[in-house]
Amino acid sequence: MYDAIIIGAGVVGCAVAQQLAKYNGKLLVIDRMEDVADGASKANSGIVHAGFDAHPGTEKARLNVKGAKMYKQLANELGVPYGQPGALVIGFTEDDRKTLENLLSQANANEVEGCRIIEREEILKMEPNTNPDVLCALYAPTSGLVSPYEMTCALADSAAENGAEFSLSNPVLEIKPTADGNWLVITERDEYRTRAVINCAGMGSGVLHNMISSRRVRLIARRGEYYLLDHAAEMPFAMTMFQCPTKMGKGVLVSPTTHGNILLGPTADDIDDGYDTATTRAGLDEALSKVRLTWKNVNLRQVITTFSGIRAHEEHGDFIIGKVEGAPEGAYEAVGVESPGLSAAPAIGQELGDEVAAFLGLDKKDNWKKPTPVAKAFRNMTNAERAEAYALDPEYGTLVCRCEQVTEAEIRAAIRRPVGARSIDGVKRRTRAGMGRCQGGFCSPRVLEILCEELNMSPLEITKCGGESRLLVGTLHDIAKEARPDEE
Ligand SMILES: Cc1cc2nc3c(=O)[nH]c(=O)nc-3n(C[C@H](O)[C@H](O)[C@H](O)COP(=O)(O)OP(=O)(O)OC[C@H]3O[C@@H](n4cnc5c(N)ncnc54)[C@H](O)[C@@H]3O)c2cc1C
Repeated sequence: MYDAIIIGAGVVGCAVAQQLAKYNGKLLVIDRMEDVADGASKANSGIVHAGFDAHPGTEKARLNVKGAKMYKQLANELGVPYGQPGALVIGFTEDDRKTLENLLSQANANEVEGCRIIEREEILKMEPNTNPDVLCALYAPTSGLVSPYEMTCALADSAAENGAEFSLSNPVLEIKPTADGNWLVITERDEYRTRAVINCAGMGSGVLHNMISSRRVRLIARRGEYYLLDHAAEMPFAMTMFQCPTKMGKGVLVSPTTHGNILLGPTADDIDDGYDTATTRAGLDEALSKVRLTWKNVNLRQVITTFSGIRAHEEHGDFIIGKVEGAPEGAYEAVGVESPGLSAAPAIGQELGDEVAAFLGLDKKDNWKKPTPVAKAFRNMTNAERAEAYALDPEYGTLVCRCEQVTEAEIRAAIRRPVGARSIDGVKRRTRAGMGRCQGGFCSPRVLEILCEELNMSPLEITKCGGESRLLVGTLHDIAKEARPDEE
């Protein structure tokens, strides 16, 4: 019997797990995918929003502002890339100015520090590549950036280091209350009994909610498509450049990432299939045409990939966090956690974790282990640090991913982490091997070999991202035999 089972290992589920693992109790995190951070938490803008966009009085506003204030320290403790370059929301017309003034009022009501309206001259001084037709902007100096999947992986590791178990590739099919006041979680692989269940299943959270609650929720899948540009010697923008928000979201942005790439997008289109993360010609064209309003000279030769992520938009527009209304005792949830969910995750994790621990009557652990920060990446080391790392582990001397300068030592360490990589994409998210200009064309075969060595698996079993996404389909011998069964 578990004390608590968390369904969903995105940034929210892992933040809740990290907090709950500070208490004595038996904890399990279950996800349908083969790795943590395989839903919206891997495909978003990576902005730690300052908090001016969410309507005052909503859970979104409260948790965004609280979460954003927690980020710097938490990211530092976990060893996750984080920065606070600030943001501009740019306007081109007097109508846009009114929108920006409203955003400023919201910023003040939400107690976001330092926001102000600035004019063209100051904008172009701060960000000279902005379209010179710009009229005015809201400047938000506390807007931050984080690597969302690295954050999620590090939260998961911290939870696991403190005893949380993870069961991946294990979709939850049903949750139901039991006659003795507990819960049964039925998955594709097994059944688990627990005193409390916490639904953090992103796009899957609506279905799970409706299984146990008399109050219906409806989630709308809102897809956002992006272009990602390669590192440039000179970053065209230091800050995140937003346009005025629309009723569908925060609009298209141009933003640096924590790793020095430039992100363009996202679009916002409601789709039927909540797991369809395809990109489309129409979506990418729309993103690009809007990007050109911010950055006239965007150069598509720098594009290294495109991707999309899906927002779990609850029809009434706010996060639903806490005890599940209309369900028996012991059921908790984080439903409808679209943007700014990444920004809010540390606050959601803290509040929901503490609430569940109080319900269960759990005491704080005396022996809670502080997070082990993710080691500094080889590409960010000084030459002296590189020499020191090589002296301790000669596998720092073998570069596997040339584009992102990832060494063999780092790939092996990623597989050996508490919630370690099990696939090519798992290694990519933890080390950046395959994130560069060649998109894994060069390093994937070697990453596959290292996965085989570390996990004692056959190359035929290694996948790109779980399921049937195997990279190799058979040996040449098997294929030849199949083609010519009569030959020796
Ligand atoms: C395009 C886009 C841009 C965004 N930009 C930002 C931004 O810049 N800043 C910001 O703050 N927020 C942003 N967000 C929002 C942010 O990404 C999300 O709020 C956050 O990632 C939600 O985390 P989560 O853990 O709730 O969901 P997810 O990361 O989706 O995790 C849910 C998990 O549940 C699992 N699951 C689902 N159903 C089941 C089941 N039945 N059984 C087992 N497991 C299941 C899934 O596999 C998944 O791993 C953006 C979102 C999108 C899509």
